[in-house]
Amino acid sequence: MVKAIVGANWGDEGKGKITDMLAQDSDIIIRFQGGANAGHTIINNYGKFALHTLPSGVFYDHTTSIIGNGVALNIPVLFNELKEIVSKGVPEPKILVSDRAQIVMPYHILFDQYEEERLGGKSFGSTKSGIAPFYSDKYAKIGFQVNELFMEEAALREKIDRVLSQKNVLLEHLYHKPLIDADELYQTLMDYKEMVAPYVCNVSLYLDQALKEGKNILLEGQLGTLKDPDHGIYPMVTSSSTLAAYGAIGAGLPPYSIEKVVTVCKAYSSAVGAGAFVSEIFGDEAQELRVRGGDGGEFGATTGRPRRMGWFDCVASKYGCRMQGTTDVAFTVVDVLGYLDEIPVCVGYEIDGEVTTEFPVTPLLEKAKPVLKTLPGWKSDIRGIRKYEDLPENCRKYIEFVEEQIGYPITMVSNGPGREDIIYRTV
Ligand code: GDP
Repeated sequence: MVKAIVGANWGDEGKGKITDMLAQDSDIIIRFQGGANAGHTIINNYGKFALHTLPSGVFYDHTTSIIGNGVALNIPVLFNELKEIVSKGVPEPKILVSDRAQIVMPYHILFDQYEEERLGGKSFGSTKSGIAPFYSDKYAKIGFQVNELFMEEAALREKIDRVLSQKNVLLEHLYHKPLIDADELYQTLMDYKEMVAPYVCNVSLYLDQALKEGKNILLEGQLGTLKDPDHGIYPMVTSSSTLAAYGAIGAGLPPYSIEKVVTVCKAYSSAVGAGAFVSEIFGDEAQELRVRGGDGGEFGATTGRPRRMGWFDCVASKYGCRMQGTTDVAFTVVDVLGYLDEIPVCVGYEIDGEVTTEFPVTPLLEKAKPVLKTLPGWKSDIRGIRKYEDLPENCRKYIEFVEEQIGYPITMVSNGPGREDIIYRTV
């Protein structure tokens, strides 16, 4: 059985926590897209961890963690993360890396920085991890797959020369930066080869066997629907698909093997980077939610940047759940809202004088103004509650209101950052 865990919104919904929790009953956890540009924060009995590349299942000794072919694989980042968790007492996890995963090259990171510099105020707010240049090269067919590290030296050197002849023209004439040396790059790739060699695997074949053996497989998404390059707020999106459907491709599984799509949706909104954010709030109101949000505030796991804050957006979340093909919603960080007397929720967008509940294309989204409805708060701390009926009435009303607006069943309510802070609900 394959389950995907994905985000309905802009990312940072708490997917890491839900994956860590569901990994308990899983055999295999796979990252299928994205790279080290975003991070999951996970809190468990070993401590608090920010994972950027490792799947969130690495804390269990019964699971195999896989980096799928769809991932932007930064090899040194992967191994530093591995070292870090092991140094904090986590048993050495079982890791496999797809032989078809592509490698983030040192020049991808440089190009990301140079391009943001060149764009100045018109930049995309990239985390400068090389993700956009990486995926551009993948689809321009000048990327390097892990298996290519194992080619004959002459063939690899020939490819390096071919790729650098293009990169160096851009460095010299567009960015006016130092050129890349082919020998140095070859040596770097040899270092990468040594690091990755013990883990390389024909992942699609491994998963085919696992499916035949009835293993439980989790696909772990990064970011959320609204950052999808096709269905998100283009161009303020990420460079690989954030949708559950892409899990089949980015891992190498049959599309019909994904039976459950758990879409993680958070009880208020936050976003990083530029782009329209209809229910955004500002000033003291935003700062209070930011500081109280998540575990230790809404600040980027990778960059430490303060996140943009907003009220729950039913329009965006309904769309976010629809595009994921949601079977279950995990509604997170509900505990954070316990300080509010009243909780505004965005129930519609007013665009050119008309109200809609359907998420629009980007030019219309830029014009949208939020239609807010205010619900009463519950003014109490709900952490530690384990049964849905034990939640305060106004909290249940908030959850049920959101469920009705988005049209997908909320089967899990998360009321704290820990593994055990979860309320299962049958609907
Ligand atoms: P992800 O990228 O979707 O995994 O999200 P992040 O890890 O960036 O952000 C989620 C943050 O919220 C992390 O710090 C989690 O520990 C925390 N978190 C997750 N679920 C809950 C919850 O139900 N309540 C609280 N207070 N924090 C949560």
